[in-house]
Amino acid sequence: MTPELILYHAPLLLERGGDAVAIRCGRIVAVGRSEEVLRLRGPGTELLDLEGRPLLPGFFDAHLHFLQVGLDRVFYVDLSQAGSLSQALELLVRAGKARPGGWVVGRGWDESVWPERRYLERLDLDRRLPNQPVVAMRVDGHLAVANTLALARCLRPEGELVDRARGHLWEEAAEELLACAQPDRETLVEAAAAASRLAASLGITAVADMGGPQVLPTLQLAETRGLLRTRVFLYLPREELDRLAGLGIRRGFGSELVRIQGLKEVFVDGSIGARTAALTSPYADGEGQGELLLTREELATLLRGAERAGLQVAIHAIGDRDIEEAISACELARVSPGARHRIEHLELPTPAQLQRMRDLGLVASMQPNFAARWSGPGKLYETRLGRDRDAVIDPHAWVAEAKLPLAFGSDGMPIGPLFGLPGAISPPHPAQRLPWEVAFRAYTSGGAYAVFAEGELGKIAPGYLADLVVLSAGPSQAPWEELQVDMTFLSGQLIYERT
Ligand SMILES: [Zn+2]
Repeated sequence: MTPELILYHAPLLLERGGDAVAIRCGRIVAVGRSEEVLRLRGPGTELLDLEGRPLLPGFFDAHLHFLQVGLDRVFYVDLSQAGSLSQALELLVRAGKARPGGWVVGRGWDESVWPERRYLERLDLDRRLPNQPVVAMRVDGHLAVANTLALARCLRPEGELVDRARGHLWEEAAEELLACAQPDRETLVEAAAAASRLAASLGITAVADMGGPQVLPTLQLAETRGLLRTRVFLYLPREELDRLAGLGIRRGFGSELVRIQGLKEVFVDGSIGARTAALTSPYADGEGQGELLLTREELATLLRGAERAGLQVAIHAIGDRDIEEAISACELARVSPGARHRIEHLELPTPAQLQRMRDLGLVASMQPNFAARWSGPGKLYETRLGRDRDAVIDPHAWVAEAKLPLAFGSDGMPIGPLFGLPGAISPPHPAQRLPWEVAFRAYTSGGAYAVFAEGELGKIAPGYLADLVVLSAGPSQAPWEELQVDMTFLSGQLIYERT
């Protein structure tokens, strides 16, 4: 049983003792001190001296929209950085050339920062891109501009949110047209490959995907072609319950890299930024308290059905009111603590709610990058919620005190554990600070636990899958901004190396 690979002089960041790992057939076969582990080597063993750089389990992004991450790179054209109308056009033209005849979809243009000071119009697009459909959404998401070929897909009468002369579409009209511009299967596979490469470069070896109906066939194809280098645990739309139950598909079903885990359910559609998260008292800077999309009875019915089918449910709940509904629905359904249903986001829970979550065996799936980006004096959350509620938003320390299983993810805003972790390790409100070891565990073994994979992922120990990350230094050895992912391994294969 000679190992194929030994990584040594690699202090284990999250385990006690040991600075070497032996790998065989994609799994860890031995862990210990370098001298001991090196003794296991045979003639074919590859040896890799990491020269003191720390080794940790691959990061697990517990909440991601995997294909979206890839589509942002290979399909959508980011116009938010365009400094002028002609620059925006140039970006669209470049994307059009890369995909002759296919849809070109731009996002994020903002004429208020352009010297031309006017909207993009149909004729601008027609002149430069006459042979393929083009649509581009303004930064606010309320107005889209389309060329003649794209406008031909718009079935609305003139005047009903449509101005054909200028090629402008508003609100639902814009969304309907964007829905026509779906990427084809090949583009989706390309997106999966791009997302996987990006994930590897960030040290991510597994994700829980909150994707839509395209995700399963796309990922299967990407895996078959050897383009997928990420373990993806899927949470499918709740509408799939009957089909999954009918086929007898239970959580854990799938291939080496793609597994069906359960269903996702959304209590509120949106966020605190969009003032759509449901609160018990109103937003500080606007009307309303957010709308719930379903009742607790409906959610309880889904939970019961999912448990009968052997599936997990990931409930998206953000504000104190939707969190209350989510927990009450779990109580109403008498969920089994062993089912490990999850609450996603969980931004404004009370300590009492966290206790009830603990009793129900629920997992807290949180995104520390939200606090890093939007919480603190003068930032978005303080504006929307006021200072008191901002001070207790994303309460990672409370979650840890309540001894809730905690899984960290990014929701793709942006993807990247090293970007997000400071939101937990050095948060804007210090009372919610987590020790870095606890935060790193939430981003590794925490994600594994949340998908019932804690027996083979998220830990460096014999028998575990050799999904590993080498950092340039440990968090106590170098300033945080200097930390980098140097190498990423999936099943013992090097899938990323920083150059
Ligand atoms: Zn999400």
